[in-house]
Amino acid sequence: MRSTPGHRLSGLPQVAGLAAGLRRDIEVVSAVLPFKVNNYVIDELIDWSRVPDDPIFRLTFPHGDMLPRDMYDEVATLLDAGLSRSDLTAAVEPLRRRLNPHPGDQLDKNVPTDRHGRIDGLQHKYAETVLVFPANGQTCHSYCGYCFRWAQFIGIADLKQQISEQDRMVDYLSAHPEVSDVLFTGGDPMIMRTDVLAKYVDPLLDGRAEHIRTLRFGTKALSYWPYRFTTDPDADDLLRMFERVIESGRQVAVMAHFSHSQELHTPAVREAIRRIRDTGAIIRSQAPIVRHVNDDADVWAQMWRDLVAQGVQPYYMFVERDTGARDYFALPLHRVSAIYREALSQVSGLERTARGPVMSASPGKVVIDGIAEVNGERVFCCRFLQARDPAHVGRPFFARYDEAALWFDDLRPAFGEAQFFFADEAPQVLVA
Ligand SMILES: *Cc1c(COP(=O)(O)O)cnc(C)c1O
Ligand code: SF4
Repeated sequence: MRSTPGHRLSGLPQVAGLAAGLRRDIEVVSAVLPFKVNNYVIDELIDWSRVPDDPIFRLTFPHGDMLPRDMYDEVATLLDAGLSRSDLTAAVEPLRRRLNPHPGDQLDKNVPTDRHGRIDGLQHKYAETVLVFPANGQTCHSYCGYCFRWAQFIGIADLKQQISEQDRMVDYLSAHPEVSDVLFTGGDPMIMRTDVLAKYVDPLLDGRAEHIRTLRFGTKALSYWPYRFTTDPDADDLLRMFERVIESGRQVAVMAHFSHSQELHTPAVREAIRRIRDTGAIIRSQAPIVRHVNDDADVWAQMWRDLVAQGVQPYYMFVERDTGARDYFALPLHRVSAIYREALSQVSGLERTARGPVMSASPGKVVIDGIAEVNGERVFCCRFLQARDPAHVGRPFFARYDEAALWFDDLRPAFGEAQFFFADEAPQVLVA
């Protein structure tokens, strides 16, 4: 794999052929936000005849509108001054802090403890699922422009969220019989060599954690580097590892991240999907809905059809988080809800399995079921798909309709109520 980091993107031959303004945008924006694009994405995924409107180009390449105008101008001036790379980094540091590099409370609130204290690199928010962030898996084969982990890729959020002590992980899991699922995440755990990943996986199969029924692997490798499952030197070892998990009586769930059906059509991805499924693993797909990439009902309907045609189950449609280039990618909730419904109405029941639009918020995963009018008041019908407090799972609630609402924090209780029923548990939603 050959990766090109942000500051070298403008040197690519494909980019040299673009209009001068686009090249300038790429230089300016990549001085602030992290970018990395590999040869598979450049050579096989992006349709260069459709650039800049190609969805994968929009997903992976910098675009001028990703920065507020005044910030863009400031960075352009810095670049023209010909600073050294280290001086430039120091000068853009305060600008990066203006882009909400630490959204939500993921880093602190959900970290479990054992007798030694916090176990950084594990997250245990919902009773039945523990997230594992292996230390060597905290990067990806390419970066998505909307990534909510962008700050950690450029080192301005410290990498507390990683674990290298497999024993501590296994001990924690053994002591928590309520956990049925372990979800390896990152970054992308598939960035790790198979033998490194196996150090986390194999100890879960030796009887110390009988109650673990499913190992999930959250990954965008099928989109960004399907060769991880086909021709990489340890691709076969990875598939054998999946088979070991399955032979132990557990499920392997590859939680793929597909943003657009264009990612599903190369010979490499088709072969990768086929090989993974041959091991007995199940592949599910989830992605956020974002402007410029997939803010179109036809795009989702086509993607769901193409996924199911290859045996992949659509799982979640997420709402984009409030960080980084959020203004560029965000869509109002009412639009997201309309796109979801319109996409659903075009496909068969088997292709309607993606729940959404979902926001991963502090009290839980909240789905917008739709917009309704109740006693003359327009409301968002919301429901907890997951909740920190299991008693909240499945509970509906109603938020005032708001044309401008982009995220959970923008929602206010409907029907003149002072607060949501879960407000005591999550004080930040009280801010009116
Ligand atoms: C989404 C999520 C999970 C998994 O939830 P499922 O609904 O079981 O897929 C687990 N932990 C955290 C912190 C999550 O955000
Ligand atoms: S694959 Fe996931 S973690 Fe990696 S850049 Fe994309 S959104 Fe971020």
